[in-house]
Amino acid sequence: MPYKLFGSDGREYISDVPGTLGGYRPGKIYGRLDCASALRAIGKGGYVGHRVFFADAAAAIAAGYRPCAKCCPAEYQAWKASRAAQDKRPDGSNSS
Ligand SMILES: [Zn+2]
Repeated sequence: MPYKLFGSDGREYISDVPGTLGGYRPGKIYGRLDCASALRAIGKGGYVGHRVFFADAAAAIAAGYRPCAKCCPAEYQAWKASRAAQDKRPDGSNSS
């Protein structure tokens, strides 16, 4: 079965291999393919249709996804820190 991956340029492409990371499109979250949170959601059946794949973390971040706090805690902390640095608008709006 072919997999839909995002490249680091943010464009989708079809690959025979699933990549190293999975992403949940509505939540814009990426994580390991064996992430317990993702597998639980897949078990409930509400996840698979929204699943995307990335070759690596750089591709996921380039596509606007954030790391999963459960399976990528170090990446998540780094993402949170960089986001906090960006979110210094006094009115709290987020135009991205
Ligand atoms: Zn995860």
